[in-house]
Amino acid sequence: MELSQRVQKLTPSSTLAITAKANELKASGQDVIGLAAGEPDFNTPGNIIQAAFRAVEAGKTKYTPAGGLPQLKQAIQSKLERDGLHYQLNEIMVASGAKHALYNLFQSILDEGDEVIIPIPYWVSYPEQVKLAGGEPVYVETDEATAFKVTAAKLDTVKTARTKALILNTPSNPTGALYSEDELQEVADWAVKNNIIVVSDEIYETLVYDGKHISIATLGDAIKALTVVINGVSKSHSMTGWRIGYAAGDQKIIKAMTDLASHSTSNPTTPSQWAAIEAYEGDQTFLKEMNATFKSRLDTIYPLLMEIPGISCIKPKGAFYLYPNVKETVKLCGLNSADELVEQLLEEVLVAAVPGSSFGSPDNIRLSYATDLESMTEAIKRIKQFVTDRM
Ligand code: PLP
Repeated sequence: MELSQRVQKLTPSSTLAITAKANELKASGQDVIGLAAGEPDFNTPGNIIQAAFRAVEAGKTKYTPAGGLPQLKQAIQSKLERDGLHYQLNEIMVASGAKHALYNLFQSILDEGDEVIIPIPYWVSYPEQVKLAGGEPVYVETDEATAFKVTAAKLDTVKTARTKALILNTPSNPTGALYSEDELQEVADWAVKNNIIVVSDEIYETLVYDGKHISIATLGDAIKALTVVINGVSKSHSMTGWRIGYAAGDQKIIKAMTDLASHSTSNPTTPSQWAAIEAYEGDQTFLKEMNATFKSRLDTIYPLLMEIPGISCIKPKGAFYLYPNVKETVKLCGLNSADELVEQLLEEVLVAAVPGSSFGSPDNIRLSYATDLESMTEAIKRIKQFVTDRM
């Protein structure tokens, strides 16, 4: 039986492949340290869990409007208001995670052949979601020399008459890069001048350790009109499994995304929506605590990482990933690629990392520090030993 052209074009996630391999080794009793995780290693705060219990007990277990509970939209509206962003309720839709919001967005704005600019390195799902909507991913290279950020001049080199949108992810997965206000202003001016939609993925906004997260949509009415803000509670409140994200932007786009949800997923899980209301309106102490923990892990681990021969790495400003360039390390070990290094690290010293090739930059590897400091320190020690033994 022939599968559709659409799914045949999908690239399977190598992140999942490495996780599967790591789990296999773990199941066979091996002491694997996983640095591939894309989720905080914290429990969801108790007050949020209690809110979900209360909702279920009160019978809040039925359908809600496809685009989310009005009460949750109001909570999101107030949250955005606190950030200096004013949206009407019909400019906000709740989705089953930020990933789902992005999926519905691309389905709603792209026609066959429309181009979407995606800075390299990128989060693995962007190109696949663009392709699933009939769009063409157009890549723009960034690297350590530009701190993994795009400029207007760079964007000009890839813009064509078919460019419909640009994806901006700050703070970034996988690099931890954070755009400053001036850098965002430059991108905003470029988008307004060229009438290009900015898909602003801000899912890591609360995880910033150096500087301040700024949403590009706050930089004036013209750029706000072109921006669709994507966010959610997955990373901020350690709620990855609850599946609540949202989109805020142009009312026409939001309505299309909601209509699409009404014929595919219907509403995001009802108890999760009540939990998300508590996440946005309840005690926010957890955010500070989690941020402080990640910052202290980063400050401890980063200097240790830099001791590994051949490694170079920009200190990330946000999210919870280190994204070292291992080109020299690979050479020192007599290997051919960072992919091979990742494979060997797992097989030989039982450390699971993600190869940069998954994110479009094959000279890097991604190490998540969403794991306890002891395991992280041990993992870096093992990588260092692996490299030193081969030099
Ligand atoms: N955007 C980025 C950059 C991410 O790293 C992730 C999760 O890994 C998501 C979106 C998806 O978030 P959610 O779990 O809310 O779908």
